[in-house]
Amino acid sequence: MKAPSRQAALWLAVVSALALILLALAALQIHWTDQVSQADRERLRANLDTSVTRFQRDFYLQLLRVCWAFRIAGPESVTAAMDAYAGRYDDWRNASAYPAMIGGLLLWDQQHARLFRLNPSTEQFELTSWPPELLKLRHNLRKLTSASSPEDVPGPRWILDEQTYSLIHPLRIGQQSYPARHTATIVVRLSPEFLWHRLAPQLTARYFGSRYAVAIVGRADPLRPLFESVSPAPGRPLANGDIVANLVPGTEEDLFDPVANPEHARGDPARAEQKFLDGAGPGGGRRYFSLARFAAAGQRWELVVRGTSGTVEAAVRALHRRNLTIGFGVLLLLAVAMSLVVISAQTAQRLARTQMNFLAGISHELRTPLTVICSAADNLADGMLAGSDRVKDYGNLIRDQGRRLSHMVNEVLSFAAGRAVRRFHRQEPVDPSGIIETVLANLQAEIESQHVTVEKNVEQNLPLVWGDPSALAECIQNLVSNAIRYGGEARWMRIQAGRRHSHGKEEVVVMVEDRGPGISPRDLRRIFEPFYRGANATDAQIHGTGLGLSIAQQAAKAMGGRLTVRSAVGKGSQFTLALPALASADSET
Ligand code: ADP
Repeated sequence: MKAPSRQAALWLAVVSALALILLALAALQIHWTDQVSQADRERLRANLDTSVTRFQRDFYLQLLRVCWAFRIAGPESVTAAMDAYAGRYDDWRNASAYPAMIGGLLLWDQQHARLFRLNPSTEQFELTSWPPELLKLRHNLRKLTSASSPEDVPGPRWILDEQTYSLIHPLRIGQQSYPARHTATIVVRLSPEFLWHRLAPQLTARYFGSRYAVAIVGRADPLRPLFESVSPAPGRPLANGDIVANLVPGTEEDLFDPVANPEHARGDPARAEQKFLDGAGPGGGRRYFSLARFAAAGQRWELVVRGTSGTVEAAVRALHRRNLTIGFGVLLLLAVAMSLVVISAQTAQRLARTQMNFLAGISHELRTPLTVICSAADNLADGMLAGSDRVKDYGNLIRDQGRRLSHMVNEVLSFAAGRAVRRFHRQEPVDPSGIIETVLANLQAEIESQHVTVEKNVEQNLPLVWGDPSALAECIQNLVSNAIRYGGEARWMRIQAGRRHSHGKEEVVVMVEDRGPGISPRDLRRIFEPFYRGANATDAQIHGTGLGLSIAQQAAKAMGGRLTVRSAVGKGSQFTLALPALASADSET
């Protein structure tokens, strides 16, 4: 008993260790998934930041190109300035990649309070009056050009006025000494149509693809976006995105003169652009983003970005959930695989144990009848027996022991054959009542020698069943033989056969009962396993191989039936064999 309990303890230890490892893996899995999510969050954020910066940078570059294109050397007079700008406008239309970006040119002659507008068809500036939507701009220009002290004189800067879509540049006309005054201003009007219907979609596709929804809003009215890359769900405007940033960064205080860029001044605009692009990134050359503004902070353009399927945070959470599910799925699979390995190892071990027991048992079982047969034969050979009665007794002894031996050998062979091939290959209509008679006749000697009372109750005209007659005989014989051997002191058994309906089909049912000590529940679960012998068999030293019920069950299954058992300790056992009956038309053929 010691070895099995040590083995059980070992198994328990192994299973507990595996369970602990699984738990540790699960904990690590949660921890790692959290870390991965954190890294994902940071990566997505960083990508988004980079895309936003690039979007801003490219947008700004287009503004910068306008500034560069309309750079003129200090004009002598307003007329000279107008000629120069008309020429620049012509160049822009012919050479720029985006001619539609400019919606018009205005020149404000402060000294004479006159406003000129470039007529694109004649390419001449013509006198015009301030349109009402630009009155605020006129007010700002007056302020800008009325500096009275040298400190107030602004440099040659460009100003972005988001409210009126204007790029503005004050001019010094002639060679004035201090206090210098700007006497004229050029206003380049940008086309909203171009900005929001061509440039913004192009930049969105380039930097955000379809993973992010992008909108550009005026901060004063975020619910009515100037541009939107996808139409938002009703009631869910994009105003609150993962990132909200100024489309054109910079403050009013930051004054910047893009025209003064040395490369550009040297006539190398491509290098100037490259230098700008290299410098315009997180942490580097932010000053390039400093266009002066008129528009108050409330009127700035803002870039709003959000993941198309929700915020970045929601995307990370979904990814986190998915990773966890996959991780736990794999762990579950591992747990199931581990349990299967443990179960099959234990089953194999149990089978090995029963087979060892079988070997030990069978060699003992074989030796006893052989010894009896040999010594009886010796006595007969030596002529030690006088009288025909003694010879008859010895003959009976040898026959009984010989039968016992052949029964055992048959069982082993039957089992082995049933395992190796489908043994029950003969299929024909079989009469169960005839088989019962044969079985009882076969076992008559045993019944008599054990003084067993047999009750037989077989219904008249039992239907035939379809199967192998010898297999059915073997099956019933095993049941009857068990009832005799395990029937105990009661020395009683009953065999009944009848018909019944189950699930709409007719069955023939053969029931074998005894009033022996019964089978313990522990054994009851396993008696159909090959080589398994119950405690009642081994304790009472009842001969057997542990194969009879296994063979009987194989036979029942081969005939499309089933063999079941009910047993109560101290009261007896009842084995029931149910076989599908042949329809009467079938049996007649
Ligand atoms: P064997 O009888 O050779 O041991 P079986 O396969 O016929 O092998 O039976 C397996 C076990 O089932 C027996 O060892 C015994 O413990 C139990 N058993 C079978 N039939 C009966 C019965 N009628 N009453 C009590 N126990 C039984």
